[in-house]
Amino acid sequence: MIDKPIEAVMRESKRDILIPADLVATVNEENNLQHVFLVLTKIKYAKIPVLDNDSHFKGLVSLPMITEKMLGNTGITSRCLDTMKVKEIMQTEVPTIYERDNLEAILRYLIDENFLPYVDHENYFKGIITRREIFKEVNFLAHNFSKHYIALPAYLEKKLNQETKSKSM
Ligand code: AMP
Repeated sequence: MIDKPIEAVMRESKRDILIPADLVATVNEENNLQHVFLVLTKIKYAKIPVLDNDSHFKGLVSLPMITEKMLGNTGITSRCLDTMKVKEIMQTEVPTIYERDNLEAILRYLIDENFLPYVDHENYFKGIITRREIFKEVNFLAHNFSKHYIALPAYLEKKLNQETKSKSM
């Protein structure tokens, strides 16, 4: 569990850690690889979410997932770009977040992921939470903790408690 004072100060920043869906570059699961290849090359994000026609989150796609398919026995071929759809190659095992306030889960998942899709209980895509946004919160915490709490080394607190106890006896 995250220490309560740490969580309390991080929440003090009042910044929204969510990048809302309308600002996130996405592709449709029915798009062919040619389209996705162009989008990924132009926007320069390593990986982006894949949605269905009703904006449900379906998976993630990256350039290496496409180039992997382009590697044939005799070299590189672009034939698959026209014939394959993104839903055939996307990553479907993806950790997602349902509660944007669940800092505990967000921090744990972001150890291994660059970003987390934020969805509702019907898997409707609502945006992403990125490592970068969480780092801004950690930066806020590092610069503001002592404005809200006095941190004592644990051994000193124990000593103070013992002294108070023996005085009251
Ligand atoms: P950042 O922490 O800002 O470097 O973002 C980490 C990753 O999140 C990027 O490499 C992308 O895969 C994804 N990402 C961040 N912002 C966007 C966006 N606006 N649209 C799509 N993907 C994004």
